[in-house]
Amino acid sequence: MTTKATASNEPVGRLLGWLGLRHARGDTPDGGRKPPGGAAREARYELAASITSFLVDNDLDVSPTNLLLAHAAFSGSNPRLARQIVAQAQTADGISQKWLNELDEQDGNQPDRVELDRLMTRLETNIEAFQTNTKEARTVTSDYGTELEQHVVDLEQLQKTGRIVSNLADLARVMLDRTRKAEDDMRRSEDEAKALRRSLDRAKRDAELDYLTGLPNRRAFETLLDRHYKEARAAVEPLSIAFCDIDEFKKVNDLHGHEAGDRVIKAIADTLARISNDHCHVARHGGEEFVMLFRGLTPTEAAEKLDDAREALADRRLINRKTDEPFGQITFSGGVADAFGHGDARAALKAADEALYKAKAAGRNCIRIADPA
Ligand code: GH3
Ligand code: MG
Ligand code: MG
Repeated sequence: MTTKATASNEPVGRLLGWLGLRHARGDTPDGGRKPPGGAAREARYELAASITSFLVDNDLDVSPTNLLLAHAAFSGSNPRLARQIVAQAQTADGISQKWLNELDEQDGNQPDRVELDRLMTRLETNIEAFQTNTKEARTVTSDYGTELEQHVVDLEQLQKTGRIVSNLADLARVMLDRTRKAEDDMRRSEDEAKALRRSLDRAKRDAELDYLTGLPNRRAFETLLDRHYKEARAAVEPLSIAFCDIDEFKKVNDLHGHEAGDRVIKAIADTLARISNDHCHVARHGGEEFVMLFRGLTPTEAAEKLDDAREALADRRLINRKTDEPFGQITFSGGVADAFGHGDARAALKAADEALYKAKAAGRNCIRIADPA
């Protein structure tokens, strides 16, 4: 060691003593003076004296690094460092700032730094792993985010769809209610339609029926005439048309009143209806006039049948139920025509009416047959 190193032998000596290489009995930085107070205070004083002597005796900088190194070596916190200092002090180069700097640069000499490096390594590893994991997580998250975004879009879509579904559900419920109401309305309408159909059928039937006699009216008769005219012509069957008119009916109304006249009309209708069947149709043409169709009968055969009815009526003596007064003899006159002997059905009907008036002209209460055209 150099002189300078000799000057710093005291603290190194204490350090060597602390390391068990040499006992530093009563050696103090101030040359043997012990500080007042207890052992702890004396220990702090000795530590401070050792650090100061180490720095001053070896011409070292009073820097944080040197102080930390000296404290670590003389306080006993870094035994390895203390041994290195002792070993260096015993070399020819001795303790120098250059050596301390080189020693400080040796990371391994500082257990805190080692621990720090270990922790740093662990942290770096962890950070690296964290970064890797983060990257992976970010990738996954990104993918998940993308997927999530799509899910969000889907969710939004679902929400929209949900709203739409909800709206549709509400609408469906409204529609269902309306549908049910419509069903009820339709059911009611169907019932009403059935009722209307029944009413219509009844009205139609009523429209074709004479309200007083219950016989088909002129309109219904025209339909019957057209149908039987075509059918009979196609079947080459005889078809005769008859026109009947109550004789001197004005007198009935005049003598017995209009209502009594109605009952007489009804009685004549019943008389003619008795001869009606699937081949004989009787209809009230209007007023006290009736028309008849004789399917399968020639005009002569029809006239005979009609004359039988006339004779039967002429033989009756009708009485007014309201007054019990006799109506006297009620007769009718009739004209018969061949449906196919006068051009068409309307012309044949006209011929029958003309024959009727011939019967009237002949004195009434008789049947006349129209001459073929
Ligand atoms: P004719 O022998 O020439 O037929 O004599 P008539 O008195 O019957 O003369 P006409 O046929 O011309 O007169 C028909 C009368 O029948 C006229 C009308 O007052 C009456 N009459 C028509 N329709 C009805 C009816 O529905 N009820 C009643 N009570 N009378 C009717
Ligand atoms: Mg008349
Ligand atoms: Mg008449």
